[in-house]
Amino acid sequence: MNERDPKAVWEALLEGNERFANGTPMRPHQELERRLELTKGQSPRVCVFTCGDSRVPAEILFDAGLGDIFVVRTAGEVVDSGVMASLEFAVSGLGVEVVVVLGHESCGAVKAAVEVLNGAEVPQGHLRTLVEQITPSVLEARTQDHLTSGDFERHHADATARKVLYKSPAIKEAVDRGDTAVVAARYRLSDGAVETVATYGL
Ligand SMILES: [Zn+2]
Repeated sequence: MNERDPKAVWEALLEGNERFANGTPMRPHQELERRLELTKGQSPRVCVFTCGDSRVPAEILFDAGLGDIFVVRTAGEVVDSGVMASLEFAVSGLGVEVVVVLGHESCGAVKAAVEVLNGAEVPQGHLRTLVEQITPSVLEARTQDHLTSGDFERHHADATARKVLYKSPAIKEAVDRGDTAVVAARYRLSDGAVETVATYGL
C-alpha cells in the first residue's frame, strides 16, 4: 500500500478491528524498533475522531500501534475549533487517507442529550455544549423514526462527519479529489465490532 488508497486503508482498519473483536489481536507496531524509528517523524494513514470514553481506545480496538493513527477525542465527539484544526492538520499536514468519526454504544454524552430532550435540566457550565451539539443529531434520528440509543449514536456519528465536511473546505476538497475518505462508524462495546454507518469518498 504505497499509492493513496482510502478504500484499502479502511479495509485494513476493519480487519484490525475484526482481529480485536475475535480476541486474536496481533498488536502490531509496538516493539522497541518501531518506537525508535518514529523519532524521525510520523506518517499515519488514518485519523480517528472519537469520544473520550475510556472504553473506546482507538489503537486497541483497531489493533494498531505506534504511529498508525492520529487520534482526536472529545466527549461525545463534539466539534470545536481545536478539533477542526486537529482534523485539518491530519488531512492537510499528515495526509491521512481516512478520517473515521467513531461513535459508540452506551455513549453517556448522547444519553445526556436524550435526557434533556425528554425534560431533564440542561447541565451547567461547559457541559452544556455537549447537549447543544448532540441534540440536533437525536432530533434528526427521531424525524426518521429511529428511536433507539443505537440509532441516536449512529445518527450523531454521521451528523458529525457531515459537519466536519461542511465546516472544512480543505477536508471536503481532499474527499472530492479522492485523496481522503471520511467514514462515520459506531463501536459496539458488547461485541467489540465497529459498524460502518456512512461513507464519504469511498
Ligand atoms: Zn461517548
